[in-house]
Amino acid sequence: MVDQNEKITMMHGAGGAIMHDLVKNFLVKTFGAIGNAEVPLEAMDDAAVVGDIVFKSDSHAVKPIFFPGGDIGRIAISGTVNDISCLGAQPFALACGLILEEGLLLSDLDRILISMHKACVEADVGIVTGDTKVVEKGALGGLVMNVSGIGKRTSALDKNLAVVRSIRELKANWTLDSNLIEGEKIILTGTLGEHGLAVLSAQQGLKFGSEIKSDVKPLNHMVQELLGQVGGVVAIKDPTRGGLADALHEWTEKSKIGILLQEEKIPIRQDVQIACEMLGIDPLEIGNEGKLIIGVVPQKAQEVLEFLHQTVQGKDAQIIGETTAQFGGVAMQTAVGGKRIVARPVGDPIPRIC
Ligand code: MG
Repeated sequence: MVDQNEKITMMHGAGGAIMHDLVKNFLVKTFGAIGNAEVPLEAMDDAAVVGDIVFKSDSHAVKPIFFPGGDIGRIAISGTVNDISCLGAQPFALACGLILEEGLLLSDLDRILISMHKACVEADVGIVTGDTKVVEKGALGGLVMNVSGIGKRTSALDKNLAVVRSIRELKANWTLDSNLIEGEKIILTGTLGEHGLAVLSAQQGLKFGSEIKSDVKPLNHMVQELLGQVGGVVAIKDPTRGGLADALHEWTEKSKIGILLQEEKIPIRQDVQIACEMLGIDPLEIGNEGKLIIGVVPQKAQEVLEFLHQTVQGKDAQIIGETTAQFGGVAMQTAVGGKRIVARPVGDPIPRIC
């Protein structure tokens, strides 16, 4: 039964446990059994698979619409491209729905569209259909948008799966959240926290010691090259709202396995670390828009890491931990020698970051 007095709060969109409960108890409950998908809505993975098409829809309401290192348009393209990439597919076409607020400067809209075009060129994918609506002046902050996309299976993904299957059994045909087994290595492709702090600085007019810019970027080419040239990848996820902590909890829940992290291996820039300490927020819970976590069979982990180090997007990659059957959930070996539990965040500490 739905509580007649309960209302939506900002936490329902913050990417942690509260948002996951909303999606599970309302959307998956209503639509989960309809359709004929290989990877269905109820899998709650980065994207769905219908036939041989990977399908994803993502809405964006970042506030403000411009922030250091990016803007709402660049996130919208990158977010959908990266979610399709997380299943091992290559984005093939995008659709864009714009909701503009009365009073938005046409020059700001033009700047955002040019930024989206640049991200499309980087990802080598186009917007082929869409829709534009206008609403009265209110709380949109200028505009919100939806970008949906389809992706296709590639020979690189097939090569990757063949490498995995030469080492261990794997039923799934895509790099899913539920694929991990005991003893696999977890690789993070770069430093944490820049996107969330860049948006927070623009929201609050905060100045840190150095300018912290968003990491927002499309990662599809890096993923396809990694799958085709190295292989052994079983799962890929983008640690967006709720950060690394939330993304790893999704993996532990769906793969029914524990994850042990090594704190000293988690790459975090010093200026980000200092800003987080000052603000009292955990860099593991902040959203990123240009990073991936990659689960790899242990035999290929070193090779994957060396490959990533040669790429611009993965030059700071680290093996940050591994899966274990000794406990459920996420724990971390701390730099001072103890072990602590990494709790699932209730929501990202920074509102409207994407
Ligand atoms: Mg995702």
